[in-house]
Amino acid sequence: MPGDLPPDEFRRAMHRVADLVADYLEQVGDYPVLPRIAPGDVAAALPAAPPLEAEPLDRVLDDYQRLIEPNVTHWNHPGFLAYFAITGSGPGILGEALAAGLNVNAMLWRTGPAPTELEERTCDWLRQMMDLPEGFSGHINDTASISSLLALAVARHRLPGVDVRGKGLAGRPEVPPLTVYASDQAHSSIDKGAILLGIGHENVRRIESDAAFRMSVPALAAAIARDRAAGRLPMAVVATAGTTSTTSVDPLPEIADLCEQEGLFLHVDAAYAGSAAICPEHRALMAGMERADSIVVNPHKWMFTPVDCSVLFVRDPALLRSAFSLVPEYLRTDEAGVTNLMDLGIQLGRRFRSLKLWMVIRTFGVEGLRERIREHCALARWLAGAIEAAAGFEVAAPVPFSVVCFRAKVEGGAEAEDRFNERLLAAINAAGPFFLSHTVLQGRYTLRVAIGNLRTTRADVEELWDLVRGSAARLRAEMGN
Ligand SMILES: *Cc1c(COP(=O)(O)O)cnc(C)c1O
Repeated sequence: MPGDLPPDEFRRAMHRVADLVADYLEQVGDYPVLPRIAPGDVAAALPAAPPLEAEPLDRVLDDYQRLIEPNVTHWNHPGFLAYFAITGSGPGILGEALAAGLNVNAMLWRTGPAPTELEERTCDWLRQMMDLPEGFSGHINDTASISSLLALAVARHRLPGVDVRGKGLAGRPEVPPLTVYASDQAHSSIDKGAILLGIGHENVRRIESDAAFRMSVPALAAAIARDRAAGRLPMAVVATAGTTSTTSVDPLPEIADLCEQEGLFLHVDAAYAGSAAICPEHRALMAGMERADSIVVNPHKWMFTPVDCSVLFVRDPALLRSAFSLVPEYLRTDEAGVTNLMDLGIQLGRRFRSLKLWMVIRTFGVEGLRERIREHCALARWLAGAIEAAAGFEVAAPVPFSVVCFRAKVEGGAEAEDRFNERLLAAINAAGPFFLSHTVLQGRYTLRVAIGNLRTTRADVEELWDLVRGSAARLRAEMGN
């Protein structure tokens, strides 16, 4: 019988993998954050055809070490400060490995009793950690994009008399155009969700934000009134707690009031900042979140859980089930009163994602998680303070959490300044030890430092600031500015 790897060989390889991972994590800071390769380099080193005959496992692992590991962008690197700087963590990696060993598909309680119940319990721990009221029920999806798509689907399902689930949207002149509201800072996943749900991209109203990048509530109210007057059917508001560009928090209490008055579904996208809600002082910035109909938070963003792990909390789990549950005969089981995770979304099969989150929460403890998040915020505040105090730079947005947006100031107008900052970013990223990303704020090119990596220390952030100043000075000299 051909079968799997012989047990002894597997065990030996697993030990080697343990060493590979541990060595990698210990030494990841020695790599440049961005591999110094061009598109196509990796593909060119890979055989075009698969091996016909079995190859020794050690040779495969050698190739991993030689060809794959050095040629990834190192998200675990202390200098990875782009996007939302996520790290996995020791306990999260161990949870991933154990889940891979089990290879459970927890579509039904019966096909994964412990995974189902651990997911429910772990999500409820997270609910308590985020100080959300009892009654919010959480489950795990891969990404916030999917969690927000599900939330919008629930909002659509809740519309009285529309029954998109049964009747669809096409060929129904009696159904007015559905509209969704989000700020001009909201994540593109909201647009994608609306596109996918047949709401249409043009029916996502991007509401202007104020000087602090928070959704303008008067503008929101006006847009809703305009749409109602035009015979449209407002459906949901998506407020963001921790926007992707600047981590601003929309005015949740006022938005919740408006949603209540208007009978609109309120979804809060807290994909990044939701993790910070476990610290009371940060939770206070998100007051009003508890009034949402649904909330998404990604432990894979800032709770040290390896990708992917996105928790969707809903206030009305029965509504979520009635939007998605569809049980064919071959999936019927006898257990009454159990959760079958397949009823909570689109996908049937489900990875055992709660194991890694459970291991992270237990191994660091809530206090340990708070301490790490606070440290990241303190590093961001330090950097923002240094930028504020320096001549020739400005902080471009408030810093409520662990992201700092800034730009170098140069003479010669906005266009020249944008070009300068683009070149500055390229110079910083070419140096090797850091990777930053950019955004555009009020039409202006802006550099963005996101701190959220378990390996990033004060010394790293100081080194970054030296590199920023040095690179800017060199560019200024080159450009005679
Ligand atoms: C990152 C992010 C998303 C998308 O997250 P995925 O899990 O990658 O889909 C959505 N919203 C906000 C605010 C984000 O920061």
